[in-house]
Amino acid sequence: MSAEILDGKLLARQIRGELAEEVAAFVASRGVVPTLAAVLVGSDPASEVYVRNKRRDCKEVGIESQLHALPVETSQEELLTLIARLNADDRVHGILVQLPVPEQISTEVVLASVDPSKDVDAFHAENVGKIVQGRPRFLPCTPNGVMELLKRNGLSTVGQHVVIVGRSDIVGKPLANMLIQRGADATVTVCHSRTRDLPSVTRLADILVVAIGRANFVTAEMVKPGAVVVDVGINRTDDGLVGDVDFAGVSEVASWITPVPGGVGPLTRVMLLVNTLTAAREATG
Ligand code: NDP
Repeated sequence: MSAEILDGKLLARQIRGELAEEVAAFVASRGVVPTLAAVLVGSDPASEVYVRNKRRDCKEVGIESQLHALPVETSQEELLTLIARLNADDRVHGILVQLPVPEQISTEVVLASVDPSKDVDAFHAENVGKIVQGRPRFLPCTPNGVMELLKRNGLSTVGQHVVIVGRSDIVGKPLANMLIQRGADATVTVCHSRTRDLPSVTRLADILVVAIGRANFVTAEMVKPGAVVVDVGINRTDDGLVGDVDFAGVSEVASWITPVPGGVGPLTRVMLLVNTLTAAREATG
């Protein structure tokens, strides 16, 4: 068997096209341009690229973006002062603090300081709670990207056994919470580094989602024939970017598979734009 490709790049382009129309209609009816403020502390090259890409995405769909670049020695208090100013600024609808922040700054404190109605990454405890309760304000970008990739390729999660490998706050946990809500209706198993006999669990999956950060970790023997495999991992290796899944081997047993790059990553980016438009809609009634 050779798996069909879940093409995130293509789908992201399609969604950006839809969004551009929605943003234009919003601007025409409300006279307000949705605006995202990106906060970058320090000069981590990867973070700089991420922020640049996010701003480029904004421009493509007609969302305004601001860049607030602070030096690496910025104190927590200085960062909190900037966030308070952005929280109070009616022209700013979404605030994104690019992680990681330098070590003198507490990630937890900073994320908690963002006004939940502008928290377009959906990291604030209030927004996480809303997701758990099944009445989300914003959906977290990577998990929502995974859901959209499945849905728009006609792959229902209803009644499916979804096994997620990885329990981080940004991928595994929120995705598990979204999948167990009514409507998604999946049966979910979450694995982590202490899971005993991982292959015996991953082989039960109708849909296997892997987010651990280990290059080519999931091999064909760990996958049930015909399963859908979603690879969230992004690993920089001498051979370039690779996922957590051995793409060549697993393609032979899976029915559908995401490539890396070009799978979940582009959808993560597009979901930030979706959330910024949602925030602007909320802010303007
Ligand atoms: P974290 O490092 O925060 O979490 C990794 C998780 O994987 C942990 O729960 C850890 O278990 C688990 N894990 C690690 N090793 C194993 C193992 N051998 N067996 C089973 N479980 C294991 O990572 P993130 O969730 O932030 O990111 C995961 C990957 O996804 C990374 O490659 C990252 O770059 C990528 N990523 C991609 C995105 C995209 O848009 N495509 C967005 C976000 C992340 P434990 O909790 O026990 O330590």
